[in-house]
Amino acid sequence: MATKDMPVEAGQEARKVIALDVDGTIADLATQIIKIVKDRYNVELTVDQLTKYHVEELVPSMTRAEFVGILKEIWDNYKEIGLVDKQIPRILEDVHKDYEIHVVTAAVGTDDQIRDWLRINNITYDKFVHVAHQADKQKEGADIYVDDYFEVAKQVAVLDKNVIIIKQPWSEIDEQVILNSHNKIVVAQSWVEVRELLLPRLLRREQAQ
Ligand SMILES: [Mg+2]
Repeated sequence: MATKDMPVEAGQEARKVIALDVDGTIADLATQIIKIVKDRYNVELTVDQLTKYHVEELVPSMTRAEFVGILKEIWDNYKEIGLVDKQIPRILEDVHKDYEIHVVTAAVGTDDQIRDWLRINNITYDKFVHVAHQADKQKEGADIYVDDYFEVAKQVAVLDKNVIIIKQPWSEIDEQVILNSHNKIVVAQSWVEVRELLLPRLLRREQAQ
């Protein structure tokens, strides 16, 4: 079973909590977005051209509501959504040995759709939190956020939390904010790098100081 409920036992040190995003971080919505944009808007985009988090800003005739509708449609067909990286289930299994994993998502899919996608894709997690807006993620109070959208990093790093931004063409990374974050915000180029950041406990060591 992918979902593991592992309560912290008495005398056992509470593990640090990771808030794990879904869309664009572990779930590859980009491939589906590109297909629908080509079919419906006759605009051919490559993944590298998805440089905006709000895709309607890249497709002249698309409205915000239409883009949200597309995301909903993609989640209605969640079995078609692949993983951002095939190694993610194994990496999360490793990470779970040292951290508690909370899936914290503002995805437009229903709870049942997202949870079933997590099950099908063998995603290990302890808790599932479905928030209404990206901005609500900070309320989760996790120690380390793993996300693909820099806006989340900005909201969370001011609360003295660590953030790993998995670099995607649409991340909208602001180098100046990273410089000012005193290592709270780290950009990972790949999921292998996310593992390297978490497993040597670099962030934990830094927090202990
Ligand atoms: Mg995301």
